[in-house]
Amino acid sequence: MTMGMKDSEQSVNQCRICKGPNLTLFLALGDQPHCNRFVTKELLNREEPRYPLDLYFCHDCKLMQLGYTVSPESMFKDYPYVSGTTATLPAHFHSLAKEIAQRFSLKPDDLVVDIGSNDGTFLKGFQAMQVKTLGVDPATAIVKMANEQGVETIEGFFSGDLGEGIARERGRAKVITAAGVFFHVEDLDSFVRGVKALLADDGVFMVQAIYLVDMLKQASYDNIYHEHLCYYSLGPLTHLFRRFQMEVFDVQRSPIHGGSILVYVRNAGKRSDPVLPSVKEMLAAEEREHIYDLKTYQEFAARVERNRGVLVDMLKDLKRQGKRIAAYGAPAKGNTLLNYCRIGTDILECATEKNRLKCDLYTPGMHIPVVFEEEVWNNPPDYYLLLPWNFQQELLEKERAFRAKGGKFIIPVPDPHIV
Ligand SMILES: [Zn+2]
Repeated sequence: MTMGMKDSEQSVNQCRICKGPNLTLFLALGDQPHCNRFVTKELLNREEPRYPLDLYFCHDCKLMQLGYTVSPESMFKDYPYVSGTTATLPAHFHSLAKEIAQRFSLKPDDLVVDIGSNDGTFLKGFQAMQVKTLGVDPATAIVKMANEQGVETIEGFFSGDLGEGIARERGRAKVITAAGVFFHVEDLDSFVRGVKALLADDGVFMVQAIYLVDMLKQASYDNIYHEHLCYYSLGPLTHLFRRFQMEVFDVQRSPIHGGSILVYVRNAGKRSDPVLPSVKEMLAAEEREHIYDLKTYQEFAARVERNRGVLVDMLKDLKRQGKRIAAYGAPAKGNTLLNYCRIGTDILECATEKNRLKCDLYTPGMHIPVVFEEEVWNNPPDYYLLLPWNFQQELLEKERAFRAKGGKFIIPVPDPHIV
């Protein structure tokens, strides 16, 4: 693999958390293009850079991780994902901001920093609490959008140096949040060093991440893409923070993104409130559910392969019956699924999107044309393959008119089925 290769692109031969060498490959999803690198019409004939999407299990700290790192600059600079485009996310972040502000008694002069702040959705929730806010995000267009909407945001990748710089200029933060970003981090040590430098002694760092246990249960292999370097259960996270004299003192589960955890971390020994039983309970449950055993991951890999067979047969069968099928949405995760299952334009006529940044482009790898959702309203397909299945409830409700007229949805995970 040389095309588009940069210094930071490489195969890893040590664990991203514990630096141990004992990694076992258990699932190969094939060489795939960047799941967020949508293709313009002009470039359709040019070969896209592809990178291995291989998963490894670390026998020492039990972290599930990718074996290959694609340069973060090439992935995140033109990032098209905007948190505010679904209704579920703003509602989740606003209520979470309120909960955190109340729980940790934030006062008007306290600083809240959101890392990977995207369009500022989470920080807007905090602004309503009258605290000072600052976002950090590497995506140029989205940072501009956030600043224009009054959410001050620095463009950059969070690191040890950046954390120290912000602390010097603005003082230390009472709360630091990192939602849906922690699994992107290539240099976890530098990132946590930055959090440590920026966090007030009695401050709280909250990480939201897709929960590996839910992901394994739902066989949601479409959460696996090059941006997501690590897949977290609580065990490996406690290991990571311990190395920085930090401790997890609470953990909660949330239904967001098909199952996530909210992990609360603090400097060890700096707050007097006790570590909550939730931490011990979740670690025990992970042990009980064999999350620390390689066999669990091998079973997951077998199930993923079976699901691909079932989904592809289902789609081909519908095509044989003369049905028209389109993808509903063009999320990053959908591209892992489409590329792994090799679902192309012979099956899907288009992918409908409401995020204008993706419209009139083609999906990476399989080159499904992305059209603005309203364009198909007059002539909808018979079936939609629901790629953002994690917003299933919201989207099925939104499409009740389509469904009332006999339109169907194909839900790809945990087992492909039609509703
Ligand atoms: Zn490890």
